[in-house]
Amino acid sequence: MTSPPRPSLPSCADASGRSFGERERELVLRVLESGTLNGTRGTMVPELERRLAETFGVPWARTCSSGTAAIHAAIAAVDPEPGDEIVTTPITDMGAITPIVYQSAIPVFADVDPDTFNVTAETVERCLTRRTRAVIVTHLFGGCAEIDPIAELCRSRGLVLIEDAAQAYLATDAGRLAGTIGDIGCFSLQQSKQITCGEGGFVLCRDERLARRIRIFVDKAWPYGEDHPDHEFLALNYRMTELQAAVALAQLERLPELVACRRRTAARLTELIDDVPGVGPPAVRPGTEHAFWRYPLRVDPARIRGGADALGARLKEAGIFCAPRYVRRLAFECRVLAEQRSFGDSRFPWVGEHRRDDPPVVYSRDRTPGAVAALERVVVLPWNERIDERHVAYIARTIRDAARELAA
Ligand SMILES: *Cc1c(COP(=O)(O)O)cnc(C)c1O
Repeated sequence: MTSPPRPSLPSCADASGRSFGERERELVLRVLESGTLNGTRGTMVPELERRLAETFGVPWARTCSSGTAAIHAAIAAVDPEPGDEIVTTPITDMGAITPIVYQSAIPVFADVDPDTFNVTAETVERCLTRRTRAVIVTHLFGGCAEIDPIAELCRSRGLVLIEDAAQAYLATDAGRLAGTIGDIGCFSLQQSKQITCGEGGFVLCRDERLARRIRIFVDKAWPYGEDHPDHEFLALNYRMTELQAAVALAQLERLPELVACRRRTAARLTELIDDVPGVGPPAVRPGTEHAFWRYPLRVDPARIRGGADALGARLKEAGIFCAPRYVRRLAFECRVLAEQRSFGDSRFPWVGEHRRDDPPVVYSRDRTPGAVAALERVVVLPWNERIDERHVAYIARTIRDAARELAA
């Protein structure tokens, strides 16, 4: 048998898998020619914020320097007391968790549904205590979490609902865009996301009071443009530059087309691997549309010898740079959280007077069996807008061959 032709797959790390063209160049040059690179005095940042609000259909959008900064601004807007708790997922980017600790709150990890990789109202509810102030719902890989019952829960308990939609551009749930359903929505414009300006982020918000705190938090809590400004509270410089905004603005114009490409090829892969025993496509909840930041392939370890690791190794040998078990470690297994390495040796905010009347927050794999299973059974395929029919055929054929060889 002749080995099939092996295409080199486009990568989101360089031009092969990204789409920067004439429009990005034009806007960047316009910024350079203006001589104003700082967003406070420029025109691109305000224009991008206007267009983001318009695109997502929310009253306020604020740009910032990263997705991490976006999450930080959201938590700062919630303004937790030291030792308050914020419920989130153990399968996410660390940039979605460390801001909680910086704002003196304690991350509490709800379990995820191993099929959707996302937290549920049931797992969130189990984590609520008198110290809970907010819930972060992450739409992992671009698949919508079941947010309505979580929103209902948050409303009934007076909790702020933050969506981390960094991987979920234009994902929809009953026609509503991910990131616009909760009180606050956070996005990243980092290199690998559906649209990018290298580094960057933004926050969407419907509540005027929260929106003002988010807006000024990004700028050292200085209410630029208001009468009698003062530095109002503890905050950092998380501003986006005009150069970033120029690229992000051009990328935003392409967003529908870029996400459509991802969806088209992802749907094709789902079709092509439909009958392969032991592997399956992501579980997409009825009434939702996936945004395919990545394509999470579900592997059944009872039918594939060696499970996700073995299958992932075969794909890598064939030049498909996948991530078996995604981040591999649950967030609370990373040293920063496992050893509570925060501020000197204090173990703040987990430990201290402010937690005198509360039981300690305990991190343990036993409490998140769904998350353990989810990581064990996933091979995350790289995905981007330049993957074409030929690439998909190659990926599908490689999955089919590997699954046959590893059949238990
Ligand atoms: C990328 C990402 C972040 C962090 O964004 P940065 O821009 O890298 O700081 C946060 N949450 C999720 C789910 C992400 O994918």
